[in-house]
Amino acid sequence: MKPEIFNEMIATRRQIHKHPEEGWTEFETTYLVYERLKALGYTKILKGTEVIKTDCVLGRDEQLVQKAIARAVAQGVPQSFIDAIESYTGCVGILETARPGPVVALRFDMDALRIEEADTADHLPQVLGFRSEYPGLMHACGHDAHTAVGLAVARWVMENKDRLNGTIKLVFQPAEEGVRGAWPMVQAGLFDDVDYVLASHCGGKAGPGEVALVHRGVLASTKFDIRFTGTPSHAGNQPHRGHSALMAACGTSMMLAGIPRHGDGTSRVAVGRLVAGEGRNITPVHAYIQAEVRGETAEVNEFMCENVRKIVMGNAMAYNVDYEIERVGDATTLDRCPEMIEALREVALGIEGVKVLDLKSPAGSEDFTWMGKRVVAHGGQCAFFRWGCRHNGHHKFHFDLQDTESMPVAFKMFTGYVNKMNGQN
Ligand SMILES: [Zn+2]
Repeated sequence: MKPEIFNEMIATRRQIHKHPEEGWTEFETTYLVYERLKALGYTKILKGTEVIKTDCVLGRDEQLVQKAIARAVAQGVPQSFIDAIESYTGCVGILETARPGPVVALRFDMDALRIEEADTADHLPQVLGFRSEYPGLMHACGHDAHTAVGLAVARWVMENKDRLNGTIKLVFQPAEEGVRGAWPMVQAGLFDDVDYVLASHCGGKAGPGEVALVHRGVLASTKFDIRFTGTPSHAGNQPHRGHSALMAACGTSMMLAGIPRHGDGTSRVAVGRLVAGEGRNITPVHAYIQAEVRGETAEVNEFMCENVRKIVMGNAMAYNVDYEIERVGDATTLDRCPEMIEALREVALGIEGVKVLDLKSPAGSEDFTWMGKRVVAHGGQCAFFRWGCRHNGHHKFHFDLQDTESMPVAFKMFTGYVNKMNGQN
C-alpha cells in the first residue's frame, strides 16, 4: 500500500469520524465521497435519487433529514448539492474501462449511530482529537472506516485503470443500520448488470490480523415501529372510561419475548425502545415501540414477523386500543457462493501476516444481502468478509478499530480482489 494512499485513508476516516451522520442523513459524508470521486477523475458518478428508488425507502424520518441538511449546509455542503441529490443520500462511482471483463461492485456503508462517544483517556479518538463533534452521534460500528477504505480503493482503481478490464462500481450506501439503504439501491437497478458483488465489515468475531470469510449465519431481519393509541380518562375518577396504550405496549413487549423458538433455525426478537404515557394520573393515550426480529432463514424470520403482527393485534383488542405496525427495515440471508469465497481466501492468504477464519455460526444481519441476492438471481456471485480489530463491542460508546493497523487489511482485500478479477496479468 502506497504511503500517500495510507495517510489519506486514515485522515479521511478520522475526518468522517468527527462528523457522524445517522441513516438517511449522510449529507456531509455523501458530499465528501462525491467530491473525492470527482477529484480522482471519475466521470460517471451517480448520487441521491439516481441511486435510491425513493418509493422503496423504509425508515426515513423527514424531520431528522431536514435538521441534518441544515447542519450539513452550515458545515459547507452547497445547497445546490442537496438539490441535486433531492435530499437522498448515497453515491456510486463507476469506472468503465471499455475493455471486456466482469462488472465488479464493491459496497461501502456510511452511516453512524445514536450513541454519545466516550471521552475518557483510554479512548483513542478522544486522545488523538478526532472524537465525534456531534452530541449523541457516533461512528460506533466503523462505517467511517468502511467509507474511507472505499475512497482509498477508488483512488487505487483510478491509478491502475490502464491495467484493469471490465467495469468497477464503488457503491457508497446510506442507512445500513436498521437495514434500510440496500433495498432501494437494488431497486434503482444498480446491480442488474453486476457479475460479482463484494462487501465487508470490520470487527465482529475477527480479531486483529484476521480476515473472516462468511459462509453462513447472516440472519434475515425485519424492523418494526409499533404505535398504540388509547383513550384518555382521569385515573382516579373514571379509570373504567380509559383504554391504556401503555398496557397494550407492555403486554406486547412481554409476549414478544415468548414467541416459540422455530425448529428450522435460529431466531431472535428484541424490544429496544418503549415510550408511553402522558402523566401519572392520566390513562396513557400514546405508546411507541421499536422492535426487531431475526431468523436464520427467510422463513424463520417470516414466522417471527407473523407472530409480531398477531401479538400486536391481540393486545390492541384486549386493551381496546388502536394500533399501527410499520415495517421500517428489512434484510434477507446471505447467498453462499463457494467459488467467490475461495477467490477471497486466495487474496487473503497473499496478504502478509493475515490469518484466515471461516465463519459459519449465526451472527448479525446485513442488508448487503439484498445486493447479493439480486446478483445471484441473474447468475452472478456475492461474498462478504470481516477484517479484524479489537473493537470493545459494536454499538458501544468506546468502540474503536485501531485504524492504522486494521484498515490496510481491508484495503488490500478489496484491491486484491479487483486485481484478481479485473487485472490484466
Ligand atoms: Zn455496522
